[in-house]
Amino acid sequence: MLNPAANQLSQLKKRLTKRTVKELAESSHVQAGLEDMISRFYDSLIQACESGTVNWVDPILDTWLSAMPRDNTTESTLIPLVSTIKRVLWRVCEFDDDEQVFNTIQIVEPIFEHSIAYINRLETGSIIDQADRNLSEFKVTMKALEKSKASFVAVAAHELKTPLTLVQGYSNMLTNELLQVENEQKYEPYLRGINNGTSRLKEILDAMLDVTLIDNDLLELSYQPVWLGQLVDGLLSELEEQLQTRELDISYEAFLDPKEFFYADPERLQQIIRNVLLNAIKYTPDGGKIVIGGRKLPGFVEITVEDNGIGIAMDKQQTIFKKFNQTGDAARHSSGKVKFKGGGPGLGLVIAKGLIEAHEGTIWCESDGYDEDTCPGSIFHIMVPYRDTPPDEMSAQIFGDSVVPN
Ligand code: ADP
Repeated sequence: MLNPAANQLSQLKKRLTKRTVKELAESSHVQAGLEDMISRFYDSLIQACESGTVNWVDPILDTWLSAMPRDNTTESTLIPLVSTIKRVLWRVCEFDDDEQVFNTIQIVEPIFEHSIAYINRLETGSIIDQADRNLSEFKVTMKALEKSKASFVAVAAHELKTPLTLVQGYSNMLTNELLQVENEQKYEPYLRGINNGTSRLKEILDAMLDVTLIDNDLLELSYQPVWLGQLVDGLLSELEEQLQTRELDISYEAFLDPKEFFYADPERLQQIIRNVLLNAIKYTPDGGKIVIGGRKLPGFVEITVEDNGIGIAMDKQQTIFKKFNQTGDAARHSSGKVKFKGGGPGLGLVIAKGLIEAHEGTIWCESDGYDEDTCPGSIFHIMVPYRDTPPDEMSAQIFGDSVVPN
């Protein structure tokens, strides 16, 4: 025996189904297709009324939801469909006696409320799932693109280096030959030009390769004992010739015992200091002062490069460590390596950061701002973990405890 609400709905079911289908579609063809689906919903509604369990409608809602198109382009929802059924139901029921209508509303309303909440929950969940799937697909595509871009850069840079080495070799041979002939000295500036150009090109290709290695976590460090004083001295004598064109006072204030060593990749550490030092040189006017110094801290060696150059704007102090983010004028690119304000491709600090992070260290800068007139200067801090024993198996095998003070 059905309760009065379920009973009333059972009696009205045929009319309700017809009216709802009519509201939903005009074409009789579509109406025929909808009839069974709506009729089944009313069956579930009657069951829900009879049992007092709102979840009776869930299976039919699940069937509808799973039939809905779910893609990036269609924003579809079942809410209007359920609202139409509810509207039709009230309209059809109101012709019955008031008390019965009131009783039915009281029982049916929570079932519709539940249906709307249920649809909302599932639809939102499915939108989030779809967004998650889109995001994952996007990440995979981006990763593949990054990888192909990185390998393109790596292959291109590598391929360009081979002919470049040939040009460098032949131009060196030509220089040597011609310089031996007294009256051929006039060609010397041309040959020097070729040599400078090829060296610069090689540096840029090396920088591109380094960035690719860093970006793809392919950097391999070769840990060896490092005597910092020797490393900085080597760097300063390497730059000596180029620095003759600049009037700068560059000094190293040693802070470690000359015999003290720690484990790091000496070439890479020298490259980090070189990149920072070259900037200090480039952005300090003639007559300026650059000091390489630092201190020993618990677990770290802090190397500092301080200049009294043009300084760095506050808002640039983070971005200069990001790719192609140099603050200078692009028109100055490729001007001399140590020339005042001579710009580069903006990779020096990106590489320095990648290399020091590969050592598990860090780099940052401080400056009171950028001012070419007052020259507030900049100070770069390079924190290198102090490793007094070989940190990996390879270097332990090579060096063990056998390192003698140099
Ligand atoms: P670039 O190839 O332009 O030198 P870097 O990555 O080495 O690229 O440096 C990025 C930018 O940081 C430079 O273009 C410059 O604007 C700024 N910069 C770096 N070091 C200094 C410094 N010591 N003084 C002033 N500006 C600096």
